[in-house]
Order: sequence, then C-alpha cells, then structure tokens
Amino acid sequence: MGKVYLVGAGPGDPELLTVKAARLLARAEIVFHDSLVSAEVLRLIARDAEVIDVGKRCGRKLLTQEEINALLVSAGAKHQVVIRLKGGDPLIFGRAGEEIEALRNAGVDVEIVSGITAVLGAAAAAGISLTDRRAASQVVISTFSRGPQGAAMDWGAITSTTTLALYMPGPDYAEVARRLQEGGLPADLPCAIVSNATGPQQRIRRTTVAELAQEEKLPAPALMIVGRVASQKIQEISKAFWRGDVKELEAHRPAVS
Ligand code: SAH
Repeated sequence: MGKVYLVGAGPGDPELLTVKAARLLARAEIVFHDSLVSAEVLRLIARDAEVIDVGKRCGRKLLTQEEINALLVSAGAKHQVVIRLKGGDPLIFGRAGEEIEALRNAGVDVEIVSGITAVLGAAAAAGISLTDRRAASQVVISTFSRGPQGAAMDWGAITSTTTLALYMPGPDYAEVARRLQEGGLPADLPCAIVSNATGPQQRIRRTTVAELAQEEKLPAPALMIVGRVASQKIQEISKAFWRGDVKELEAHRPAVS
C-alpha cells in the first residue's frame, strides 16, 4: 500500500510551489492533475511517472468525482507515491473532502500538501493587503452557487470590513454585480479582477461593484477581490458607507492609522 498526496500546485508560477510539493512531484509514480495546473509545474513531474489529466477530459468522457475517487483508491493500492495535484491549495474549492473520505474509507493513507491559494497569488499580484487594518478585519473566501441547490452566499458573514475573495465568478459580470448589490454591497465598493494570477498571462483590472457590469471579461481562471482594501486610496475610503447601519458599523470600524 502506498500513499496518496493531495498536493497544491499554487496559482501558476512554478516558483510558488512548496519545496515539499516539488520534491514529491520528482518522486511520483502516478499523478492525477486538474486542468488548472500550469504546464511549468507539470514539467517538474518525474519523467517516468504516469500523468493523467482528470480535470476536463479523459479520453472523451468527462470523469465524475466518483470515478476520480475510484482511480485514486486503486492507484493507492498499487503505487508508493500517488499524487493528486490541484491548482492553488487542495483544500480550497478543490473537492478534497470527497477524495479524503473515499481514500480513508478504503484504508489508503492520505497526506495533504498545502499550496498557495489563488486569492493569495492574486492579492500579491495586485499589491492588495487583504487585511489592511485601516479597512478590513476579515477575509471571506467564497463563491456563488455551491451545492445541489445552488445555494447563494451567506451574506450574513459580510460586513463593511470584510474583504471578499470571490472565486469562480463566471463570465457574466453584470450578473455578479447584481448579486453583490442584492447582497447589500455598495455600488461604489472597490473590486479588483485578477486573471491568471502569477502566470505569464496575468491581468489585473480595478473597478467597483457597479462598474463591474461594464468591464471587459478577463479570461479564466479569474477571481475578484471585493472590499475597501481593493482601492488604491484606502485612506480616503476607509469610512463605512453601507446599508442603513452606517453608524453601527462606524462604531466597530478599526481605527484609521
Ligand atoms: N484550489 C484552487 C481553487 C480551485 S476553484 C485554489 O486554491 O486556488 C477554481 C477557481 O480558482 C477559478 O475559477 C478562479 O476563480 C480561481 N483561480 C485559480 N487559479 C487562479 C489564478 N491563477 N488566477 C486567478 N484565479 C484563479
């Protein structure tokens, strides 16, 4: 029996891979990777390893999560070093939970090797301090429509000092702008769109929640950083300005330094 490593490939730049991930990739016997993993990272895989793209198509058929789980379980029984390589960090929107459960149920050893999740690469690229004490006290990593009911975001968690990292925003920015405003976010709240963060095709756009609707669509993968920290003039906009509860929010606002 071997071990299955759920490894984070980071947001794109191969230099952002952990030393541990690079070492494991060089020793891998078999690697199952997502379509998000960059070509430069794939080049670090041992030359004699079997490399299987489970991200989009395998042959002609799209692999279901159950099929991927089954592949991992059977590879774990045959090989010493099995790698499940995912973009960013495996524990953020990576379906790692289902894979960990399947492997544990089958008695296969699992180890998780962290990667740099996309929002951290995106924030670094855009020079955004996600928890800038003048304007933010929390970071919420979220996306729309999760789960079978397509449940929307839990807006209760979003306050005027929240930095919202919106993964998988999709190509319909007008719809995103509408949903964010329906959730109570002010129209002039800053928003940065970062596409292909840390990779050679990286692009960054700065806009606001309302103006997002008119923005040019950036290629996937892209995410949005929404919140006052996304402004280039944080000092000027660090006054609370939302919903009706401005006074109450002001009282809780961290001191402007
Ligand atoms: N496990 C990954 C996320 C997978 S979900 C992680 O931790 O980063 C896929 C979404 O991640 C994409 O739709 C996009 O919103 C975001 N993403 C992944 N890589 C990205 C990149 N290089 N630049 C911008 N967004 C990225």
